[in-house]
Amino acid sequence: MARFLVIGGGIAGTAAALALHKAGREVAVYEAHPDSAEDIGAFLTLASNGLRALAQLDATAAVTELGFPLTSMRVLDHTGTESAHVPLGEADDPALRFRCLRRGELGAALQAEAVRRGIPVVHGARLAAVEDGPDGVTAHFADGSTASGDLLIGADGLNSTVRRTTTPTAQPRYAGQHVFYGYTDAAPKSGTDDTACITMTRGSTAAFGHTTSPGGETYWFARVSAPEPLTSGELADAGPTHWRDLLLPLLREDPTPAAGVVEATTAPVLVTNATELPNGTSWRTGRTLLVGDAAHAASPATGQGASLALEDAVILAKCLRDTPDLDSALSRYEALRRPRVEHNTTASGNISRGTQPPPRPTGATSAPAPAPRPGDAELIRQLDWDSRIPSSP
Ligand SMILES: Cc1cc2nc3c(=O)[nH]c(=O)nc-3n(C[C@H](O)[C@H](O)[C@H](O)COP(=O)(O)OP(=O)(O)OC[C@H]3O[C@@H](n4cnc5c(N)ncnc54)[C@H](O)[C@@H]3O)c2cc1C
Repeated sequence: MARFLVIGGGIAGTAAALALHKAGREVAVYEAHPDSAEDIGAFLTLASNGLRALAQLDATAAVTELGFPLTSMRVLDHTGTESAHVPLGEADDPALRFRCLRRGELGAALQAEAVRRGIPVVHGARLAAVEDGPDGVTAHFADGSTASGDLLIGADGLNSTVRRTTTPTAQPRYAGQHVFYGYTDAAPKSGTDDTACITMTRGSTAAFGHTTSPGGETYWFARVSAPEPLTSGELADAGPTHWRDLLLPLLREDPTPAAGVVEATTAPVLVTNATELPNGTSWRTGRTLLVGDAAHAASPATGQGASLALEDAVILAKCLRDTPDLDSALSRYEALRRPRVEHNTTASGNISRGTQPPPRPTGATSAPAPAPRPGDAELIRQLDWDSRIPSSP
């Protein structure tokens, strides 16, 4: 039986392992970090399309124990005036409701689910090199250990070692924004019913989003346009209140709730550069394939990275299940996935660079994400575990 090596135990890697296991394949996950509780700093939103993929992996319950649902989105302009209040995604179906949760917790929950199903998840296995041959592929880890299989799936994120090995010319690039994330349990009350609602403020100096958990903790992010990325020195040297103090004067320029939320934040604020991979980056070399952020990292503006990684997992496993040989399965996978994920990279990058305004919210879309449309019949068919992937378009 074909053996699959998954490098990276994040969302893409663990979901790919769950999907391949469900398809009856032998699979193991190799994760660099010594434990699963890495990076609990940032939060993310799983959209209905990602939750639909998760449901096909029978993993909904593992995730709905985390975070909280979001059923609507309010949009404020730079004066604080509400310009829209729309349902979010497939709000009527509890399994497909947008969900706000911490990124690290999602990864840990998926890993725990993989282990529960008997999938080996090897921690402390940092990939150092890939040796590709006609009869198999071998992963060489930093501790000197090795693992061999028929296909190596590079799910090792934005700074993928697999990608550096197989496609050294592909370089992530800055997408024009600094992105801040924070939490506070002392945000001023808004005076409106904000239950299960995310408020997006299109400010004059920042795009700001915030939502409050049922327990009263407010999760917020700010995306601020800047010509240059923050350097590694700036990211490393900032004191605990530095980013909050930098953001506040910008947010105070508008009479919106944003400044009050950030002012109430005492815990350290997390900051990253919005980063993307150029479209056209090669995903396949010999017996290696890139998935998730390793293949198609996008700026965070559309909030689709995790959801698209979950889609990748289901559709990859179905292609391998339904297509007679490895080469044609991977070709089919790429043909199905590349247009969709690259559309997202372009749309998200355009929003981050300010070359395209955020989409007008309507009740039918999964806003804030403009690219993927959860109700799209073709996508639903591709994700449906019980439907076959045709071998040609
Ligand atoms: C701050 C932030 C906020 C985000 N917000 C959202 C959002 O709201 N909605 C959304 O859908 N997406 C969001 N995203 C994007 C989303 O988190 C990613 O698209 C998603 O996690 C993709 O997961 P991945 O598994 O491909 O990569 P990652 O999550 O980066 O996982 C890669 C894994 O590989 C491991 N690894 C790395 N190198 C090696 C190696 N050499 N050997 C072995 N293992 C290795 C890493 O330790 C990690 O566990 C956000 C991303 C960031 C950074």
